[in-house]
Amino acid sequence: MTHIITGLCMRYAGCVEVCPVDCIAPGYPIDEWPYYYIDPDACIDCGACVPACPYNAIWPEAEVPDFLKGDIQGNYDFFANGPGYDAGSG
Ligand code: SF4
Ligand code: SF4
Repeated sequence: MTHIITGLCMRYAGCVEVCPVDCIAPGYPIDEWPYYYIDPDACIDCGACVPACPYNAIWPEAEVPDFLKGDIQGNYDFFANGPGYDAGSG
């Protein structure tokens, strides 16, 4: 299990500051990776990031609402096939 950042993310970054295992990374380039993403292999499901997000963008994977389920795969792809932690800030 992991937590998932969905398309409600506005890149506010509050979640990054509270994650105890530093498993949340910003997506770059923004036109390809518009949200922040949680590394599903590193997330310990502590839930600390959920109240840190003012946009309700973060959900436990099993509880992602139907209209946001299409955003789940991006969290996996960003680290498995995308830039992941090396995305930098450009
Ligand atoms: S998930 Fe929420 S707290 Fe994290 S970067 Fe996106 S908007 Fe900010
Ligand atoms: S649930 Fe915990 S470990 Fe997982 S991304 Fe959120 S703060 Fe980090």
